[in-house]
Amino acid sequence: MHWSNSVPNSLSTSVKSLLIDGKNVCNQENTFDSINPATGETNYRVSIADERHVAVAVASAKDAVSEPAWRTMLPHIRARILARMSAIMESRSDELARLQMIENGKVWSECKAQVASAAATFRYYAAVCETLGSEVTPSRGDYLSMTAYEPYGVVAAITPWNSPLTMEAQKVAPALAAGNAVILKPSEVTPSVGLMLGEIALEAGLPPGLLNVLTGDGAVTGNALINHPDVRMISFTGGTATGRNIAVTAAQRLIPVALELGGKSPHIIFADANIDAAVEGIVGGIFEGSGQSCVAGSRLFVQRSVYGKVVDALVARVSKFRVDLPDAEGAEMGPLASFPHRDRVERFVAIAKDEGGKVLVGGERPQGSQFDKGAFYLPTIIDGLTNQATAVREEIFGPVLCVLPFEDESDLVAQANDTNFGLASGIWTANYQRAWRVARALETGLVWINTYKQLSISTPFGGFKDSGIGREKGINGVRLYQQSKGIYWSMNPLNMPH
Ligand code: NAD
Repeated sequence: MHWSNSVPNSLSTSVKSLLIDGKNVCNQENTFDSINPATGETNYRVSIADERHVAVAVASAKDAVSEPAWRTMLPHIRARILARMSAIMESRSDELARLQMIENGKVWSECKAQVASAAATFRYYAAVCETLGSEVTPSRGDYLSMTAYEPYGVVAAITPWNSPLTMEAQKVAPALAAGNAVILKPSEVTPSVGLMLGEIALEAGLPPGLLNVLTGDGAVTGNALINHPDVRMISFTGGTATGRNIAVTAAQRLIPVALELGGKSPHIIFADANIDAAVEGIVGGIFEGSGQSCVAGSRLFVQRSVYGKVVDALVARVSKFRVDLPDAEGAEMGPLASFPHRDRVERFVAIAKDEGGKVLVGGERPQGSQFDKGAFYLPTIIDGLTNQATAVREEIFGPVLCVLPFEDESDLVAQANDTNFGLASGIWTANYQRAWRVARALETGLVWINTYKQLSISTPFGGFKDSGIGREKGINGVRLYQQSKGIYWSMNPLNMPH
């Protein structure tokens, strides 16, 4: 596939290029600015992929995925490419971490940890690719019956801005392991990690066209991608409203869609819990990444008899929580990922106050010259709201924790499940029978017991209710990107079924 002369194919340094068919393709005429949320400075301009770029990228992906070199590539050879990608990611860890840090403002230690996690994801799916078999299924006659698994072809992977390092690895690695071509559309807030992943794939020996990266917004680039007739599967992570619209398109086109969506996760402390450990878990569970995590424990339910004690301990800990520039030594929380997003968080806090909420700590921007130009906001704890309040029901996706009391186990389960979301939950208790009962009663795809935000690539991940459809990660993460084919092979061709 060759790029037409009407669109320049350049290696411009001033404008970041798209990656199509192994080539850098720059769209000088239509760009967006990447802004560093810690400083307000422009990082660079980035090309927007329009319908023409999408058409060429999909055509190149379709060609690449049907090439015998890829279609018949033996799993252990494909695995080797994924393993090489993992190794290159590790060797370029600082570059990858820095790209995420300057685009979404996450602190350096978290960015570095996420590079390690992304590299581990490629390593894991290399192993899965090499070892996952097809099945011989029980036969009911003189024949062999089998289930083989085949790729969809061209997969669209659409990702959000909060953790491009991990989210993009989580889609690209299993989709390639499954034998597809992938068109990655990163968020317009964080375009560069995906572009670098594309570059790393080429360096690792992935044939051109199998990982194309198209930067741009949802309305133009994303929309053109999900509507292209040769895109055969969509894997989406992002907000629930966007996911619902994408699901409508997928339904009309009759193509499969996997949706990892928003959350409003209940974090629960029973009176018998180890309060010190729980407080650390709660603070990390909401304020790490400035609360911009789909699994953020943003609704805290505390058993009434320890309510005052827990709230006092939380306020004391959060008052000392270190908000700083993302690359400052010891920073625990950086800015929000963008200025419009900080405005949105501030609006939610204002609404919470109007609805009777009491801000116990935070609730404003931090003071200090290092914060003046960035999208900073203090970690905030609010109580005095009901479970029906706007700030308790809607996903704020920022450093805002709403605290509510509960009486007993049945009151807790009713309150915790009274939400449209169902992504994650956390339970702190010393009573293992209660931990088990509550874990089974909570309507969430993930439950943490006496820990929070512990994640592993080997455990399936995904949401109940409005938090999504489908499960990423784990061995079956590869199956998300494959369709099964039943094969019947007679051992006695003269004996036909009647
Ligand atoms: P978003 O829904 O606004 O955007 C996500 C992606 O979809 C972006 O790349 C965007 O450009 C694209 N997009 C937007 N409209 C589109 C359209 N019409 N067609 C195709 N693509 C379109 O979400 P966001 O603000 O980037 O991310 C925050 C959200 O992501 C939060 O709700 C958070 O909970 C969710 N999230 C979920 C998980 C999970 O695993 N469940 C993980 C991380 C983030």
